[in-house]
Amino acid sequence: MMRSTVIKLYLSLLLTACLPACGAANVDTGTLFSGTAPADYLRGKYSPAEHPLFVRLSPQEVPTDGRPQYLRKEAAEKLSALYREFQKEHPGVRFQVVSSTRTWDDQKWIWEGKWKGSILVDGQRLNETIQEPLDRAKKILQYSSMPGTSRHHWGTDFDLNELYNEYYDHGEGAVLYDWMKKNAHRFGFCQPYTAGRNAGYQEERWHWSYMPLSAQFISLWKKLYQEMKGAIFGADEFAGAAHAGHLALLYVETINQECK
Ligand SMILES: [Zn+2]
Repeated sequence: MMRSTVIKLYLSLLLTACLPACGAANVDTGTLFSGTAPADYLRGKYSPAEHPLFVRLSPQEVPTDGRPQYLRKEAAEKLSALYREFQKEHPGVRFQVVSSTRTWDDQKWIWEGKWKGSILVDGQRLNETIQEPLDRAKKILQYSSMPGTSRHHWGTDFDLNELYNEYYDHGEGAVLYDWMKKNAHRFGFCQPYTAGRNAGYQEERWHWSYMPLSAQFISLWKKLYQEMKGAIFGADEFAGAAHAGHLALLYVETINQECK
């Protein structure tokens, strides 16, 4: 049997057997995952387009960038309610979901693009400018997750409008960000990557999370990681995994306290 198959089997058995009994407080894994093995779900190894707990955002409910965007039903409903209220107060101000649920493969494409230089980071091909693998990983980790470790795998998190913080300093960006800071929590949303944390990803004013679900997923993800002692980040899983895998837990868990 291939090593990856063995790991997959082990993960499925482990989480199926362990989650309800191992202190992941009152988690009903049937309701949370609806038939997808928890270890697959938490690492983005499923298709949101085919998953019964997901919906595609409809432009009438929540504006998108035109690409198919999927969220968990409950998160999508709350986001739609949030958007209606925002629109009432600020008609015509841009509010657009530009990224939402991403699979392992989506995240691997982003990560490896940055690792191998086909996606520029700060205008640089990191494969040419940073030779030391750990340093290169840390540069990518300022704003991007390794596959299997992104909150975008969970169906609860999405990015708005523009993916750079300065956009939110003035104009429409400031109107949106100020409104979200004051109001998003009333609909269950929080900003995981705030300024002033002492580790983890940099501030991301565009990234928001539906906490009633994501707070459960982060605790289950941490359990999965600890039980597996990093085995899910085997050296053959993605470029740089052998050098960066040990950083995963730190980056996943260092978030705004209000998102926990
Ligand atoms: Zn994001």
